[in-house]
Amino acid sequence: MRIHIKGLADERFQRPLELIANLFFEESKVNFGETEPEADARIDFEVYFEETILVKAVLIPQDGKIFTAEANKKVPAGLSEKEAFKLSKTVVSRAYLQVLQNWTGIIQKWGILTGVRPTKLLHKKLREGAELETAHKELKEQYLISDEKIKLMQRIVDRQLAVLPDLYHLKNGVSIYIGIPFCPTKCAYCTFPAYAINGRQGSVDSFLGGLHYEIRQIGDWLKKNNRKITTIYYGGGTPTSITAEEMDMLYEEVHQSFPDVENIREVTVEAGRPDTITPEKLEVLKKWNIDRISINPQSYIQETLKAIGRHHTVEETIEKFHLARGMGMNNINMDLIIGLPGEGTKEFDHTLAETKKLMPESLTVHTLSFKRASEMTRNKQKYKVADRIEIEEMMKMAETWTKEHDYVPYYLYRQKNILGNLENVGYAFPGQESLYNIIIMEEQQTIIGLGCGASSKFIDPETGSITQFSNPKDPKSYNDSFVEYAAKKIGILDSLFNKGKNAPE
Ligand code: SF4
Repeated sequence: MRIHIKGLADERFQRPLELIANLFFEESKVNFGETEPEADARIDFEVYFEETILVKAVLIPQDGKIFTAEANKKVPAGLSEKEAFKLSKTVVSRAYLQVLQNWTGIIQKWGILTGVRPTKLLHKKLREGAELETAHKELKEQYLISDEKIKLMQRIVDRQLAVLPDLYHLKNGVSIYIGIPFCPTKCAYCTFPAYAINGRQGSVDSFLGGLHYEIRQIGDWLKKNNRKITTIYYGGGTPTSITAEEMDMLYEEVHQSFPDVENIREVTVEAGRPDTITPEKLEVLKKWNIDRISINPQSYIQETLKAIGRHHTVEETIEKFHLARGMGMNNINMDLIIGLPGEGTKEFDHTLAETKKLMPESLTVHTLSFKRASEMTRNKQKYKVADRIEIEEMMKMAETWTKEHDYVPYYLYRQKNILGNLENVGYAFPGQESLYNIIIMEEQQTIIGLGCGASSKFIDPETGSITQFSNPKDPKSYNDSFVEYAAKKIGILDSLFNKGKNAPE
């Protein structure tokens, strides 16, 4: 879809308008320059910036029909140039969204929001002291978010504050993410650092050497600086794709290196791929008191698993779930994906029926996202996926099913190029929510990423500002540079937590 924009001179509008166009059409192009005769539609804007900013948008598609919309907002006194542009951007986006909605008949329930973490907006308003009603009204007016989504956001925020009452006061501690970049095979939709493990023992050995080093260095810093760990999350890849002995040594390293391990509130290991789970590995998890694991079916349809490159059977998922349960794992998460190739409401209904037989403590419902670097996106024509209406129907099914079975939504995030422009929602039985998932979504605490492809997010304990830092994604570069990356992270930690004083001896 090509859209030609007239009446907006500032090129800073291009990106936000393109992102909004992508909510309606795949791979939209928004052009600001010369008139484009090839464009599918032209949108003329008129912007009046006085005491009130008023934006009028007129959309003329190729067939010559005319669609109009307008939006306005009172301008507060004394705005800086940056604040004035931000305000214009919001009002222009609202007029733009509405004129596209009028044209296509598609209503965007998230309004002009294209970001990943909608609930953060609500948290911010509440933290600043807004009454619930006012906060909801502002979200609706500022971003055109639907009542349905505002209600969902509120339920989630309530749940998060119930399980983490100190969510807004976690900034002096940290959480840890440990990334193990290996999997039995690579799934077609995956863009995580995940290398097929077979035949790579050399690479695994050197990677683990680097990871142990990082754990020791960061553990040492945390101990010296008296910083507590709130949660640890082992992800990847699949952290259970290494051997039981390697897992055992890794958890032992964590216990020896990190401070006050007994008081860490939650430790999760993504045992995601059922084909990596063995009784020996479950024994190791139990030995080190791992509270929470994930065993991810994604779907209970065998052909789907084959089509997406997961070389395990549906039976194996069920069998491994029972094995873990039988060995005492009592907080198991399962991930499902809506909209996998060849799947519609019928298949999803089957997946929910199978889920009912297991009743994991938490269920994360993802909507398929075409991530740019995945095999699925590169060969899109090979994968037939459901349309927007059916995807929405499946999402509704998940909502109803979880409600009927006493799960509550406790975190949500959105992605770009997500089917139907919906969201991923984590559901759990009350009290079994993953604290790490809440912390990472709401960006209320520093998360130190260790290992391959691990991203760190440093939150300034005073200002709340965020610094991102990523470790290399492939094991080879990681092995070449883990010493340097660990040192850089320690430098950032010092600059944030030891402001104005030398790091203690
Ligand atoms: S199991 Fe997870 S990390 Fe591994 S390839 Fe599949 S989606 Fe990627």
